[in-house]
Amino acid sequence: MSTVTTTPGIKTPSTYINDVMALVKAKNPAEPEFHQAVQEVFDSLRLVLERHPEFISAKILERITEPERLIMFRVPWFDDHGNVQVNRGFRIEMNSAIGPYKGGLRFHSSVNLGILKFLAFEQVFKNSLTTLPMGGGKGGSDFDPKGKSDNEVMRFCQSFMTELCRHIGPDTDVPAGDIGVGGREIGFMFGQYKRIRNEFTGVLTGKGLHWGGSLIRPEATGYGCVYFAEEMLKTRGETFEGKTCLVSGSGNVSQYTIEKLLQLGAKPVTVSDSDGAIYDPEGITHEKLSWIMDLKNVKRGRIRQYADQFKKAIFMPTDLKLGYNPLWNIKADCAFPSATQNEINAKDAQNLINNGCKLVAEGANMPSTLDATKLFLEHKILYGPAKAANAGGVATSGLEMSQNSARLAWTREEVDHKLHNIMKAIHKTCFETAETYGTPGNLVNGANIGGFLKVANAMLDQGLV
Ligand code: NAP
Repeated sequence: MSTVTTTPGIKTPSTYINDVMALVKAKNPAEPEFHQAVQEVFDSLRLVLERHPEFISAKILERITEPERLIMFRVPWFDDHGNVQVNRGFRIEMNSAIGPYKGGLRFHSSVNLGILKFLAFEQVFKNSLTTLPMGGGKGGSDFDPKGKSDNEVMRFCQSFMTELCRHIGPDTDVPAGDIGVGGREIGFMFGQYKRIRNEFTGVLTGKGLHWGGSLIRPEATGYGCVYFAEEMLKTRGETFEGKTCLVSGSGNVSQYTIEKLLQLGAKPVTVSDSDGAIYDPEGITHEKLSWIMDLKNVKRGRIRQYADQFKKAIFMPTDLKLGYNPLWNIKADCAFPSATQNEINAKDAQNLINNGCKLVAEGANMPSTLDATKLFLEHKILYGPAKAANAGGVATSGLEMSQNSARLAWTREEVDHKLHNIMKAIHKTCFETAETYGTPGNLVNGANIGGFLKVANAMLDQGLV
């Protein structure tokens, strides 16, 4: 039941969307990734606003694009040579209409306000799709753990948490990992939170198994993405058996995407990092995957070393002048972008389509540009957008929060079963919502609309928030 008074002279959906988009660009200049994420959602919402003019009079789009709270802070720390280093820390608490803020922390030199706003905005709809009570947030720093010693990473994490701990809590805001933030970083930050606040609570997810972490959380984003893709394939009566798959990245999401693909009988043939891509025509086997996990998670090496170890594989160094990524120009049935935003441009999308790719499932956040997305939809590729396909990570973080609150731990099978069911449910929501709104098969519309409705209705219920 809405408590917001409607105003006379409501704009048409198209005018309203164009006006708010112009406002978002004016209020958030030089933040192209944020503009891109908002544009993609707004393009889908035209269909909703035609049926629900109450969202227009309540100015939901103006409100949903404005963070509830934005925290920016200095992070000073000493490097191993005793020099003072200074980074910038962020936490964007975007929307708490349906639960405490929830979303990862990213440590990477490219981190800035615009990138975190796009991630926080996406997170709101993604978390809504999981069916769990989680609002949306995102944070991080321009600190890059690559090339830093464990002690340097610890000193940075402690300094970062010294400020962040004032703003988060198990019922307020529960961060997790993202690029550059894995088990090691979560451990250092949790330890510091506990020292300062003197409380042992589920304030972070992705924790170690012996101190509150959930089984399957490390695997969840990659496994979930493949479960989602499996549902997409089922709509065309197909399975992964024998399918050649391209996977980018070689971090958390990539590793467990490959593991699940292997379990389902597919043949993954690529991995990458920011230096370049590996193509292994013989396929990445379980043994080769173990080698990659050791290289990346323990030795913290570079993916080019794969080609030295496995002689049939080739390394293709990153060459930005090319205008396309050779990884996406290899003949394959399915593609799993699992590295970073905008890693598939229109040329890459066209290369994938020309090479017969039938499915794209996004493990990374917003890995496809708007033009690439358009091509996938035009060519009726089975296209699983990030906010649906990679929601398994945050969903399992939600399951970790439930276990922490109840002070118990579920088995691996229990968590995996729940994750699998959540991914099936997300696919069903996206698929059915796309049909309800007259665009069957368009899971971009399905995900955006399905995620939006729950949050927007909660905002109306809660008055002018
Ligand atoms: P990660 O473990 O840090 O791995 C990131 C991988 O992507 C690394 O191989 C990294 O290579 C590569 N990469 C990063 N920036 C790149 C760039 N600018 N160009 C080329 N390669 C780049 O991170 P992750 O957790 O797997 O996250 C990967 C993606 O999934 C991100 O978009 C993240 O937001 C998304 N995601 C993650 C989760 C999760 O649970 N972890 C959940 C949902 C979505 P380098 O080592 O060279 O940097």
